[in-house]
Amino acid sequence: MIGTTYRNLISYMLYLSGTFSIRRNSDMDLIPSFSVDHTKIVPGIFVSRVDVLEDQLVTTYDVRVTRPNIEPAIDVAAMHSLEHIIATYLRNDSEWKDQVIYWGPMGCLTGFYLILKGNHKPEEIYNLLLNAFKSVEETEEVPGALPVNCGNYLMHNLPMAKWQARKFAQYLAENADNPAIFEYPKSERLVTEDGREFFDS
Ligand SMILES: [Zn+2]
Repeated sequence: MIGTTYRNLISYMLYLSGTFSIRRNSDMDLIPSFSVDHTKIVPGIFVSRVDVLEDQLVTTYDVRVTRPNIEPAIDVAAMHSLEHIIATYLRNDSEWKDQVIYWGPMGCLTGFYLILKGNHKPEEIYNLLLNAFKSVEETEEVPGALPVNCGNYLMHNLPMAKWQARKFAQYLAENADNPAIFEYPKSERLVTEDGREFFDS
């Protein structure tokens, strides 16, 4: 009973912080008002935003695979294959499948968006993502790469997807204890000329 009341209170406070767009970052301000400094991003697993849907928290993660504007972005066909393979992996993982809302590519081709129920720290989904990217190596054919399942079934590149996934899995393994792979470099949110705030997702 007390647990439920507490959760409701937290949800309500989160709702209020979103409603009034509190700009200062604090422990209670889970909905970020910061923007990300893309010149300082390293690959990793980052919380992009936390939303409250009725009484449920929903977290969007940026799974950043390449360094924006420094490394080449992911080959578009490999990106498409990674989308199919890793979505299939995540939605079949016995521990996490019920939490998975969405997995999809970033328009800039440097990584993926993952949306999960709840508010887990990036560290808590590290193993899930490490294993998901490792699983690409064993993939013999891209799941759902047929005209009946896919909007562009000829645009796949499994060998390049494997290369990219191997590189990222190796990076994650080598940086398991590096806090920089879990925390974004922040900057002020950009305001466009007509006074609107810029969002990239
Ligand atoms: Zn497809």
